[in-house]
Amino acid sequence: MPYDPVKRHIAIEKLVTRIGSEGQEKKYYRIRPARWYGGIITADCVGCGLLCRFCWVSDTVMRRPADVGDFFTSKKVAEGLTSLAKKCKLDLLRVSGGEPTIGKQHLLALLENLQGTGYRFILETNGIPLAYDEGYTESLAKYNFVHVRVSLKGCNEKEFALLTGAKPEGFKLQLKALQKLVDAKVSCHPAVMASFSTKKSLQSLLQRIRQISPKLADEVEIEELILYPHVVRRLRSYKLKYYMGYAPERVPPEQV
Ligand code: SF4
Repeated sequence: MPYDPVKRHIAIEKLVTRIGSEGQEKKYYRIRPARWYGGIITADCVGCGLLCRFCWVSDTVMRRPADVGDFFTSKKVAEGLTSLAKKCKLDLLRVSGGEPTIGKQHLLALLENLQGTGYRFILETNGIPLAYDEGYTESLAKYNFVHVRVSLKGCNEKEFALLTGAKPEGFKLQLKALQKLVDAKVSCHPAVMASFSTKKSLQSLLQRIRQISPKLADEVEIEELILYPHVVRRLRSYKLKYYMGYAPERVPPEQV
């Protein structure tokens, strides 16, 4: 049965966040340097409201968020990110591994802690919480060191449902998130997982994005599948066919 992506984000939030003495805490399972964007320090959080069949996270992190990771305050995450960035001489930070916008208070407090440190923060999101939570995008607009990358799961409702197992309407929420970010004047761009899409469906998506903003349509990033062994196994089990994908060690430089 397809699931409701909004309800699932709200349910997951209850598992991976809690209120502590310093505000909302969230579960993370590691902080690491990563090769993307030319080098970026990444805190991997636990929990996402989608179940993308191509997602690189392990089945345990994806399916058993209650059993993975530990709760951290925003301050601790900010300290972890900046101290590793200093050590690795990198100036880009992000939260990945799950959906960073789950736990709004936690994320905003994290950005507050990073404000003025001189680092740039890439907010990689599926956009669903930005679409359903009134005022979220306006809150992000206060942080001019943040750039939001909305990762679209396929090019249309049908592909979204096929790739995530969620109700197809969720795709419109992803586009709504882009609209709200543009309206709130938050720096952002769309990425699209296009490995399962025909050129025709990609063209139709570009037309839809153009209606939100011609600039965004010009800035669409094409995301391709990375064939980690557990991802290949998952895709086989869902009988999902893809047009393009790279072995982890053969990702072309323009995709990194
Ligand atoms: S939205 Fe991102 S983190 Fe969530 S399941 Fe999909 S690929 Fe994984």
